[in-house]
Formats: sequence, C-alpha cells, structure tokens
Amino acid sequence: MRKNSTRAVRVGSVTFGGGNPIVVQSMCATKTQDVAATVAQVEQLRQAGAGIVRIAVDSPADAQALVAIREQTSANLSVDLQENYRLVTQVAPYVNKVRYNPGHLYHHQTNVPWQDKVKFIADVAAQYGCALRIGVNCGSIDPAKREKFPSEDKISPMLESAWEHCELLDRLGFSQYCVSLKESDPQMVIEANRRFAAARPDVPLHLGVTEAGMPPEGIRKTRAALIPLLAEGIGDTIRVSLTLPNERKHEEVLAGLEIVADVAAGRVTVELWTRDGLNIVSCPSCSRVENAAFVQLTEKVRELTAYAASYPITIAVMGCRVNGPGETDDADLGLWCGPKYVNLKKGPVTLGSFTYDEILPRLKQELDALIAERFPVT
Ligand code: SF4
Repeated sequence: MRKNSTRAVRVGSVTFGGGNPIVVQSMCATKTQDVAATVAQVEQLRQAGAGIVRIAVDSPADAQALVAIREQTSANLSVDLQENYRLVTQVAPYVNKVRYNPGHLYHHQTNVPWQDKVKFIADVAAQYGCALRIGVNCGSIDPAKREKFPSEDKISPMLESAWEHCELLDRLGFSQYCVSLKESDPQMVIEANRRFAAARPDVPLHLGVTEAGMPPEGIRKTRAALIPLLAEGIGDTIRVSLTLPNERKHEEVLAGLEIVADVAAGRVTVELWTRDGLNIVSCPSCSRVENAAFVQLTEKVRELTAYAASYPITIAVMGCRVNGPGETDDADLGLWCGPKYVNLKKGPVTLGSFTYDEILPRLKQELDALIAERFPVT
C-alpha cells in the first residue's frame, strides 16, 4: 500500500506510521467499572483483529477498574480522557496510549493555560512510555478557535486546533503522538485529513468518521471517507465507529479490516455518499452512555423515520452529555440521552426533555412539522 512517510508511533506490541501496516482499532462500549464485561469486550475486539482497544476513563473509580482490566488482558490499551486530564497519572502506568481532546481541556481549572495541561499529560505519558493522540472532534472544538472562522467553516478550526497542539508537543520534545480529525460527514473528513497531511506529512493520522451510525449506512459512510484517503497514502490507523449492541461490537473491527484489505488489493472505488436523503447520525456509544436503551432507541428512530427517507434532513442521536449537546447542534433534529430523559433539539435550540416512552411520538411530530416547513406541497 502507498503510504505517506509519517513517523513511527509504538503502542504496546504494535507500531503504526513509518511505513508499518495500518492498525485497526476499536473502543469498548461497556461501563468501565464493570470489569468483567469490559475485559470480555476488550477480548472480543482483540480477537476480531483490533490492534488497539480504547477504554473511557472519567473518574478515579474508572481508573481503579482499569488496573483490574489491565491484569486480565494482553490487548494494547488506549485510554480516552475528556475533561479530567489529571487522571492521566492514574491510567498511564497501565496503558499504551492516551487520547485527549483539545476541545475538552477548557472545562476544568479554567485558570490553568491549556499549554500547561498538555505539558502535564505529555510528561506523564513520556514517563510511562505511552503514545498520545490529539483527538479533535468537530462537535467539541475549542471555542476560541471556532470564533476565529466563519460559522460555516467547520474544518479550519479543527485544523488550527490540531496544528497548535502538534507544535506544542514538538516544542516539548514529545514525538510519539498521532492526530485525528473527526467529523460525521465523510467529505469533510477527507478534506480535513488531506489539508492536515499536506501541512504535517510527518504526523501519523488516525482516521475515522465520527457518529457514522448503524450498519450498513455507517459502514458505507466510513468507507466513503477512509478508502480514498488510504488510497492516497493518508492514514496510519483507523477506527470504524458504529452504533451496535455490545454483542456485535466486533463488527467495527471486521469493517475496518475489510477497508484495509480492499485498499491493499486496489479495490478503491467507493459508493459516493451524499446528503440527498435522510441522514441519521449516531454515536458508537461508550462507557459514558447514560442509558443502556440508547442503541435500541437509535434503531427505533431509524424505523420511525423510514417514511422520510427521501428528505435531506439530518437527525442526530447521541448517547450522553459529553458530546451530545455539541454534536447535535448541527443536526436538523437532535436527540441526546440522559439517564431518564432524552433531550430533543431543533438545530441548536432545545425543545425539551422527554421520557424514553414519550420521545418517539414527539420526534415524529417535529419531523412532520420540519418536512411541512421546508418542503411544502404546492
Ligand atoms: S456521545 Fe457520549 S456515549 Fe456516545 S460515544 Fe460520545 S462520549 Fe460515548
């Protein structure tokens, strides 16, 4: 396979970048504190072919569970940190890689400059031989970066954020890092990664389409972005993010391996993905999901909205408050799950919170109204 000459990054027993094979990775959707279920899912993903398995850690109790998980699997583990970046001291001794999100470094300790927070993370990662991922998500961009660009330009703030974090890590002498630039629109994923690779051809890229949704649409969206990029030599590790029940979570890995095999064999013609019809964006869920009914709710949203398949409308369904409020802003209608209620939004405006029983009829009402408003019968 043609590959960009990025630097090599080692994550436990695998190395990506530097001409090494593409590493397929995945993430657990189990509660991290449910050690038995998480170990089982780590193994499910590893045995399917995941070279790296990510686990969310948001609290000292999660970090404690990670110690027990580490003892029970040989998988290369990555940890996903969000606001609570100081947890890195508790997780780094037990994992091979840490992902931080530049857009989530602003919530805690607002008086501490983000540069000091990144230095803190990098120092701990270096001490324990962990790689880092600068994981930029379109829905959780540093507000200062977003304000610098017109609101319709979603890509430049992501790139600025990634570049300045790369420069800081470079200045700190930390080279074992990669970058991801995730969006739910495949075309934007292509553009963001192409622009990044042109400016920083040395930095390995983790490719993915965030909130790609349920299979088969989620696989189709991901292939539409990842295959052209990999065929151009861009991308060193990939994740296919799919909304799936836990027992089928390994299908993410199988879809990723198929992408890599297709590109290696020169099968690089992809079905174009367009926003011509109804687009359901949904997160892959993770330990942070606030109600286990989320996956089922997403499936029901798909069934309920099938009648609107020909309308170019985006409906986002998200599993929690970490990314839910931000990632639903750009959708025409958005649902994000709380423990007992589902929050319903129309664009950035919150319409209210509804129980899991009430939400579907209410969604249909809003969808009917939106269709009548945007596509009046003349
Ligand atoms: S929205 Fe929440 S539950 Fe869904 S993947 Fe993101 S962090 Fe996990």
